[in-house]
Amino acid sequence: MAKAIGTAGQVLSCVGNLAQFDSRPVALTTRLATSGEGEVWHTSWPGYLAKLYFNPTGDRIRKLEVMVANPPADPNAAINHASFAWPKAILQDASGRSLGFLMPEIAHSVGLFDVYNPQRRRTVLPGFNWLYLHVTAMNIASITQAIHSKGYVLGDIKPQNILVNNQALPSVIDTDSFQVRDPMSGQVFRCPVGSEGFTPPELLGRDLAQIDQTAGHDRFRLAVIIHLLLFGDQPYKGVWTGWGDSPDPNQLLSQGHWPYGTTTLIQPGPLTIPLETVHPEVQQCFLRCFNEGHRDASLRPTPAEWLRALKLAVADLKACHRVNCHYYSQSYGRCYWCDRKKALGVDIFPKAALSHQQRQARNQDAVAALVKPLRQAVDTASSYLEEKGAMAWLRSPLPQLTLPKPPSLTLPEQWLKYAVTTGLTSTALLSVLLIGKVVMAQKDTESLLFGTLLFIGLIALWPRLVKPSD
Ligand SMILES: [Zn+2]
Repeated sequence: MAKAIGTAGQVLSCVGNLAQFDSRPVALTTRLATSGEGEVWHTSWPGYLAKLYFNPTGDRIRKLEVMVANPPADPNAAINHASFAWPKAILQDASGRSLGFLMPEIAHSVGLFDVYNPQRRRTVLPGFNWLYLHVTAMNIASITQAIHSKGYVLGDIKPQNILVNNQALPSVIDTDSFQVRDPMSGQVFRCPVGSEGFTPPELLGRDLAQIDQTAGHDRFRLAVIIHLLLFGDQPYKGVWTGWGDSPDPNQLLSQGHWPYGTTTLIQPGPLTIPLETVHPEVQQCFLRCFNEGHRDASLRPTPAEWLRALKLAVADLKACHRVNCHYYSQSYGRCYWCDRKKALGVDIFPKAALSHQQRQARNQDAVAALVKPLRQAVDTASSYLEEKGAMAWLRSPLPQLTLPKPPSLTLPEQWLKYAVTTGLTSTALLSVLLIGKVVMAQKDTESLLFGTLLFIGLIALWPRLVKPSD
């Protein structure tokens, strides 16, 4: 057992590129955890933890210096959420020896296992439904994209290294295990650790300390994490149809046996959630990663491709009218969770007491369904016009990656809001029909052209007119 390195009350100085950390010392307060490589301490800085190594080698400290100097842009910075516990400053003792680093504390979060495992979820976060799981997956893809864009490889993506809060906002921890490339010297500080079930087939059985990894390796791990979130289980699992006993999970992964493989010996089991239940674009991402991408890392979907597919999937989710925690893909056609409950007697998203915020999200879903057909027409027209570069100023903000903010409306105000939205919808619809009728009645080209332009203008202004006001 390594000797303890920190002591309560010990004062350390910060060395970093942020002025706020340079001048004020950090005192260790209480020890939070001890691992094989070091200790994590609460500090006198609210919201910041210190990690101190038992063996702070020169390479370890140089790697931290590169990370401190080159942080990735946090995709959730605007909402004050820390998406990764990134090293903010190097910590030195009184003699000037570097011992470890200072990082943001990720509070009020649970491990990813508590979120994707149905039994744990029911206890820890009841009401964390399939919509939340989709949004969590989308946010993890977005965070991975941000980390890759600065040349880092996460290396050891696993549920223990991802924490999630009750708004489906994840945070990656243990970032000092990432693979880091020094942009000045080109030196690579490798990620020597990996986890069973997440290591891509080409790295199985190899000494990771001797390998420079690529983003392609992370893409496999990301797909497994997203599979866990959306289907509650590992992809390389099912009913073995080959000779003899089923190989162990590592062999199944190594040989590419998953229920939707092209030459697989695994069939979906009775509890397997079918691939068809997710949005077609998300299905394609899984098929690409675990079939074509099984041996060829370059064919696996990038985090950006996952992000795009998951955004479409989230937009396609619909609230079930029977069970308040059910969300299903409209592309699937009906509520899979109701079907599953009927067939198996198991409901992994059982009815729960929803928070005010969740109830409002469902109400907004109902309003969205009302205006959806017209919104689709608007989106088509807008995207065509944007391609031409003419109407960029009319573009609506992208859908928020996070779940809706806590509401401030009372019930009568909500009714008023829906009445106004419905009134505006009806008025605009009638105007569109009226203009359309007038345009169709025109005989001369000028009138027809003017009418058509007016029609397009109204269509383009539609998102502004029907946008619900908070
Ligand atoms: Zn249902």
